[in-house]
Amino acid sequence: MSLRKRVDEKCKDCIYGPTVPGTWRQQVALCTAKTCPLWDIRAKPTSSIPESTLRWYGVDLVEFQPLTTAMKEVGHE
Ligand code: SF4
Repeated sequence: MSLRKRVDEKCKDCIYGPTVPGTWRQQVALCTAKTCPLWDIRAKPTSSIPESTLRWYGVDLVEFQPLTTAMKEVGHE
């Protein structure tokens, strides 16, 4: 199993909840545990996270902007 896959599996196991809004990638991207060693390399969503999902998680849309910009720069959008 690749390192990428291992990180993804760890994050999914850690945070993903199938009964709450967002795909596993979206939920991982919205992880707020910045002290986690995997935080910088966690998976990013492959498309924009719906505003309704961001609001459900109480995300500050202005604060989330840098991640959205980073996603565009690496071609995740
Ligand atoms: S980055 Fe977040 S989701 Fe991934 S392992 Fe760390 S705390 Fe869990």
